[in-house]
Amino acid sequence: MVKDLYNRNIDYLRISITDKCNLRCRYCMAEDQKFSEDSLSLEEFLKISEIMIDKGIKKIRITGGEPLVEKNIFKLIEGFRDQGIEDISITTNGILLAEYVKDLKAAGLNRINISLDTLNEEKYEYITRGGKLSKVFEGIKACKEYDISPIKLNVVLLKDFNLDEFEDFLEFSDREDLIVRFIELMPIGEGIKFKDQLVKNSDIINNCKSLKKYNYKSNTGPADYYYREGKNGLIGFISPLSCNFCSSCNRIRLDHEANLISCLHSDKLISLKDALNDDEEIGNIIDKAIRDKPKNHKILQGHTVKRSMNTIGG
Ligand code: SAM
Ligand code: SF4
Repeated sequence: MVKDLYNRNIDYLRISITDKCNLRCRYCMAEDQKFSEDSLSLEEFLKISEIMIDKGIKKIRITGGEPLVEKNIFKLIEGFRDQGIEDISITTNGILLAEYVKDLKAAGLNRINISLDTLNEEKYEYITRGGKLSKVFEGIKACKEYDISPIKLNVVLLKDFNLDEFEDFLEFSDREDLIVRFIELMPIGEGIKFKDQLVKNSDIINNCKSLKKYNYKSNTGPADYYYREGKNGLIGFISPLSCNFCSSCNRIRLDHEANLISCLHSDKLISLKDALNDDEEIGNIIDKAIRDKPKNHKILQGHTVKRSMNTIGG
């Protein structure tokens, strides 16, 4: 197991397998965003994951861009499973889920997070620049049919856009018996333009008296969980701004162009590109990236990240 300088065990790899997406969420991606043509091949992704697994990675999340637009997604999941990863998950916008969930499950996928910022059709079309909400609902239904559990919805609350839907999301969590997690908007890429729309999770929790703290046993991530008396579902809060969780961060990220990113909030890319034919050198670069992982993010000191979120994966 590789530890970083601050004694954190890095055992969780998040891979942004493509920057391409079938939506254009306003706080994530510019309308005219160009995508890169350069991407790791299936074999290159699997070579890097194999080396990372040797170093102690136990859990992989696939993200993007939209991971389900990438044709290698099923083979990639199979590959991670064959390499011994028992916890393989994706973060998706859900648009293609109904079509793909059966094959994703057969390939070895364990868990799914679905990003959904509004339960209103017109608002969904607005924030995603053209997405169809009904497709996401079909995706959620399909996940249930194929026994994907737990299903987690990721919601970014924006003051003038969907804060008024907070209670609706609590009801949705109860009705659909799933986990809804509110993620604070981060000053990354297009998100910087929405800075004045930030809703602090600490304010919501303080104002919502029906939320009771819940000790979610399998929770190894940054979310704090709550339940409501007599209701199904759980409510989670991921609060990089109002509650810093850097001291327990166990993550390292890889993007589709072979860059390692040791902190979501750092601009620093550590390229594996020139080392792709040399396993030992890949290993050395990974070791260094982990050792040099920053102690804390600097968002509260005003630091922003210029790259857009679709290239990092969230
Ligand atoms: N396309 C997939 C999806 O939307 O789930 C995966 C990639 S997307 C970049 C991953 C997550 O990042 C989504 O939940 C999205 O809402 C979130 N995200 C994008 N930009 C963000 C920002 N500036 N602050 C907080 N979350 C952001
Ligand atoms: Fe695409 Fe996900 Fe970004 Fe929305 S949040 S534009 S779905 S990558």
